[in-house]
Amino acid sequence: AQRWGHNLVLHRHKSSLPDVRERTLIAIKPDGVQRRLVGQIIHRFEQRGFKLVGLKMLQASQDVLSEHYCELRTKPFYGSLLRYMTSGPLVVMVWEGHNVVQTSRTMVGNTNPAEAQAGTVRGDFSIHVSRNVVHASDSVERAKKEIQLWFQTKDLLDWESWDQTSTGD
Ligand code: ADP
Repeated sequence: AQRWGHNLVLHRHKSSLPDVRERTLIAIKPDGVQRRLVGQIIHRFEQRGFKLVGLKMLQASQDVLSEHYCELRTKPFYGSLLRYMTSGPLVVMVWEGHNVVQTSRTMVGNTNPAEAQAGTVRGDFSIHVSRNVVHASDSVERAKKEIQLWFQTKDLLDWESWDQTSTGD
């Protein structure tokens, strides 16, 4: 009965957070990988309480990048952006949790590092907009499209968080 009671409390707690399944795409750009920042960036998202549901390292293709950055194709920096993004491997991740899209944007910081607050990824690790270490989806809609573009559904894991005090049996 005690165990049943415990589960019931957990269930109630879960249902009070209806949007915990929100997901976003975070990519560590080639300069972030080159500078060995992968661990520190992942650490920030784990520490904040988000759940990693997909992760891979890859060399991005022109095709995927031109889709990913389709809204920027008329910008003067578009060509150099694609060269930068194909200059080395990326680490692409899907993170899940309450309000993850908006909170990740805050954690990543302003697009222009001069405007990025200290304590954000860009504010701590970057000085130039064309080498700004990390990508984060800017809306829930864009996040859905970007996750579909970079990941196959089967590569996203819908795993249960364990109650850290339980032994699992
Ligand atoms: P964000 O990545 O913050 O969502 P944008 O979608 O506006 O920003 O731009 C996408 C990426 O294009 C930026 O992260 C940056 O790498 C690059 N970029 C944006 N503006 C410039 C610029 N003026 N010069 C060079 N690169 C830029």
